Amino acid sequence: MATIGFIGLGNMGGPMAANLVKAGHDVKVFDLSADAVAKAVDGGAGKAATVAEAASNVEFVVTVLPAGKHVLSVYDGPDGVIANAKAGTVLIDSSTIEVDAARKASELARAAGLGAVDAPISGGTAGAAAGTLTFMVGGSDADFARAKPILEGMGSNIIHAGDSGAGQAAKICNNMVLGVSMIAVSEAFMLAKRLGLDAQKLFDISSKASGQCWSLTSYCPVPGPVPTSPANRDYQAGFAVDMMLKDLKLAQQASAASGATTPMGALAESLYALYSNSGHGGMDFSAIVKMLDGEK
Ligand code: NAD
Repeated sequence: MATIGFIGLGNMGGPMAANLVKAGHDVKVFDLSADAVAKAVDGGAGKAATVAEAASNVEFVVTVLPAGKHVLSVYDGPDGVIANAKAGTVLIDSSTIEVDAARKASELARAAGLGAVDAPISGGTAGAAAGTLTFMVGGSDADFARAKPILEGMGSNIIHAGDSGAGQAAKICNNMVLGVSMIAVSEAFMLAKRLGLDAQKLFDISSKASGQCWSLTSYCPVPGPVPTSPANRDYQAGFAVDMMLKDLKLAQQASAASGATTPMGALAESLYALYSNSGHGGMDFSAIVKMLDGEK
């Protein structure tokens, strides 16, 4: 079993750290929120008073933070992870951040004699709690091999996407598909409604026809066909509109920087920005169906 420093105990990081404890690892935790730390300590984790303490004398440091600027600020500087980790420690960043920030973070780590992987996650808070997340990992073969057993304590699909930044690239490409497909499925249900076609019938047919996709069959945006989807609990997140917007913005930044043409991704970003700006940023992202239905 490994010694692990864990930084960032939010909606995703909290249950992920708890699963590492359950898997038998020796985990010490740090977060700016004292409540989040207290909850993890109740679950059997040790408490670190600072980032530096969380990073020192451990084999792995896992970070699950909101954005790239948080990851770089926690990694960098005299009180940061990199300056305080012992040689050979492997840094695992499971935040969703810019590809460039992920590459920069791993360069800083490698220059200091540390291992580093970007390992963003898919599966939402339910997957984090159940330990069934998908990890998309960017880094060297050696660092991936070292990180894999730790990731297996938190997820069921651990995929090596390529070198540093490739995990983040996979994450934003996947979530661009998700954002676009959720809007497409929502439009289809709203068209069906106006044509007098029953939602359940559209679901039964499209889930067996060429319109089949995850946004339809696992996360259906209208109540009824998929009992576990947020549509059946008044669109409580789930995966919030603002989280989807963040990922679509990252995809558009990467498209602009790399010269890719992603017009549907750009439109999805605009529609989610519109919905967020109208006060719905905290709702589940499938609630965009209500905007397409004309609801305020
Ligand atoms: P969150 O806001 O719930 O948690 C972030 C945590 O980081 C908070 O507890 C906060 O106090 C802590 N934090 C912020 N700055 C810190 C610092 N300098 N030092 C220590 N702790 C600090 O966010 P979340 O929903 O857990 O998401 C975390 C990451 O996972 C994000 O990058 C997000 O895009 C990604 N993600 C989230 C989901 C989801 O469904 N929520 C799914 C996939 C990926």
